[in-house]
Amino acid sequence: MKTRIIFFFLTLTCWSNAQELRIGLLRSIEVKKIALSANQGVYSVYGDSINLGILGAIELELHSGMVRIKTNDTYQDFYCVHIVQDTLNSSFKIKSLLPTSRQHYYPDNLEVKSVDGRLNVVNLVNMDNYLSGVVESEGGGGRHLEYYKVQALMSRTYALKNEDRHHDEGFQLCDGVHCQAYHNMLRYTDAIKTAVQLTQNKVLVGPRDQLVTTYFSANCGGQVCDAGYVWNTSVPYVESFIDTFCIHTRQATWRTTINKRKWADFLNQEYGVSEKKYGNYIYNFDQIERKAFFIHPSLGIPLRDLRQKFHLKSTFFSSYLNGDQVVLEGRGFGHGVGLCQEGAMRMAELGYGYSQIARFYFHNVQVIDFQHDRSLIPKALGR
Ligand SMILES: [Zn+2]
Ligand SMILES: [Zn+2]
Repeated sequence: MKTRIIFFFLTLTCWSNAQELRIGLLRSIEVKKIALSANQGVYSVYGDSINLGILGAIELELHSGMVRIKTNDTYQDFYCVHIVQDTLNSSFKIKSLLPTSRQHYYPDNLEVKSVDGRLNVVNLVNMDNYLSGVVESEGGGGRHLEYYKVQALMSRTYALKNEDRHHDEGFQLCDGVHCQAYHNMLRYTDAIKTAVQLTQNKVLVGPRDQLVTTYFSANCGGQVCDAGYVWNTSVPYVESFIDTFCIHTRQATWRTTINKRKWADFLNQEYGVSEKKYGNYIYNFDQIERKAFFIHPSLGIPLRDLRQKFHLKSTFFSSYLNGDQVVLEGRGFGHGVGLCQEGAMRMAELGYGYSQIARFYFHNVQVIDFQHDRSLIPKALGR
């Protein structure tokens, strides 16, 4: 029993201190060499536990299972390299040199190890700073404060719900869309920082006080998509419904053409649906309301497969034949499940509060303060 009490106490302690996260950076490439320097403030460099002095401009390179630190003409090898901020609110610049990547700017600290033939680059970052970077990456600049607040709420809930997603790789969340985009340029505005602070500790919970899986996409095309159409699993608080807030926005509609032969070959090869058997039936499709399958479920052609194969903006499209081209006229951008970002932006402009926006896109949910409603924590964590 004593062990259990201690474990429970530790869980709570970890929860209340869950303000520092481990985020895997540069995960879309196999990084072998990076360039690092301070952007703002002063950093110290540690090789294993040895203080190597103030961070200038250095390169870290994978070398025989170790991390090699190169400065001008000298080099040293270590198992683990840390850069640790000596001044508050510091940030560093990082860029992959092998293969090459854009330069990004991240706050707080960094850990670099050699793992499975690549550099494992991990940002040790305060929750608020992480969320500011995510909101900047996902929402861009110049949005309404209430939109940033709802995006911060979504992203915090997501981070806490998925904090073990990359446990086996030595970090919690990655920087890509697999988790949440965190391609930080430190361009976040005061409005983003304010939104993160004003929603501090706020999370979205479902009917049984569990953290909601906060799906979001750019534009639902006027009808939020059922999660089951995209991932084959229904989620109780994510249902399909009409959203009129996003229908006149930038990414509300799209049009593209696909070569008739290419289209027919794909349907025939993958699903045995041939032009020979079905004629022009395989080109004409009306989708007034969101559907899961192309033309008819009996043909067994999931719209998500067509989206993936032809890199379509969404599965919410109708089609017809024009000469040797199949014309696709579509609505929305992204999978369309959960929060519609352009719809949420419009709602914010019209005066809706962030909690109202969240409860419009997710059903039977509520916003709670996880510090205040401590009795909900074990349930909210789903542990
Ligand atoms: Zn991930
Ligand atoms: Zn929408």
